[in-house]
Amino acid sequence: MWTLDEGAAVPVWRPRDPVPHRLLAFSTRRGGVSQAPYDTLNLGRSTDDRPEAVTENRRRLLASLGSDAERLATAGQVHGPRVAEVGSAGLHPDADALVTRVPGMVLAVSSADCLTLLLTAPGAVAAAHSGWRGTVQGMPRAVLRALCQLAGVGPDQVTVHVGPHIRPCCYEVGEEVARQFPPASVSRRDGKSHLDLLAAARQQLLEEGVPREAIGGAPECTSCNSSWYFSHRREGGRTGRQWAVAGLREESASGQDGRRV
Ligand SMILES: [Zn+2]
Repeated sequence: MWTLDEGAAVPVWRPRDPVPHRLLAFSTRRGGVSQAPYDTLNLGRSTDDRPEAVTENRRRLLASLGSDAERLATAGQVHGPRVAEVGSAGLHPDADALVTRVPGMVLAVSSADCLTLLLTAPGAVAAAHSGWRGTVQGMPRAVLRALCQLAGVGPDQVTVHVGPHIRPCCYEVGEEVARQFPPASVSRRDGKSHLDLLAAARQQLLEEGVPREAIGGAPECTSCNSSWYFSHRREGGRTGRQWAVAGLREESASGQDGRRV
C-alpha cells in the first residue's frame, strides 16, 4: 500500500509501511518553483523549463527524501529496453532503466504519462521507464531479469511498484499501436482502442514468475488528475516531468553481507 502525503512541502507517494534503508517514492507536480506550463515540480531537463528551476526542484525533492544530487543516477530514456547497472552517480544516456545494489545511490526515471516501475529485491533496487514502445520491446521483463541477476534471487523475491501514468480511461491509441499489444491490454470504446500499459506490463511480470500480489503501487491516471500530475497528452506536449525514485540507504551497508535490506 502506498500513501500520498498531501500536506507536505513536497508531496510524494511513499510506501505506507516503508522497509528500513530502502528509498521508494513517486513525485507529483506540487512543491516546486517552475512557472506554467511546468508548474511546479518539473524534474525533467528535456523540457524548455529554466534549467535553474529544474535544479532547484530536484534539490527540493531529493532533500525531502534525505538525499542530494551528488548521489543521483538518471537515464537518457530513449524508449528502448536497455537496463544499466549503476555504480556511481551520473547519466546513463542509452538506458531506460537503472538497477543498483550500491547503498547511497538514488535512481530516478522521469515521465509525464509513461508507465514507471520501481522494483525491489533483497539488497537491490531498480527504476524503469516503460512507455508503449519500451513495453512492446519487453522493458518490464528486462528490468526484472536484470534485478534478479544482480540480487541473485528469483522473481518470487521481487516486489513491483507502479507509478502514476496514463490509464486506459484517457489513453486512446491508433490501431498501429494497439495491434502490437496482447488483446487483454486493449479495450474498445466508441470504436477507438484504449491501451492499458499496466496490464501489458503485468502480463510480462506474471509470465516471468512475479507473484500477482507482489505488484502494487500508486497507479493513478496522470491525465485525469491535472492538479497532481504532468500529462504529456493532456497538455499537448508542453509540460513537466515527475520522477519515480528508488535507492538503498547507506545504513544498509552495515549488514554483514550487504544484502540485508
Ligand atoms: Zn484518465
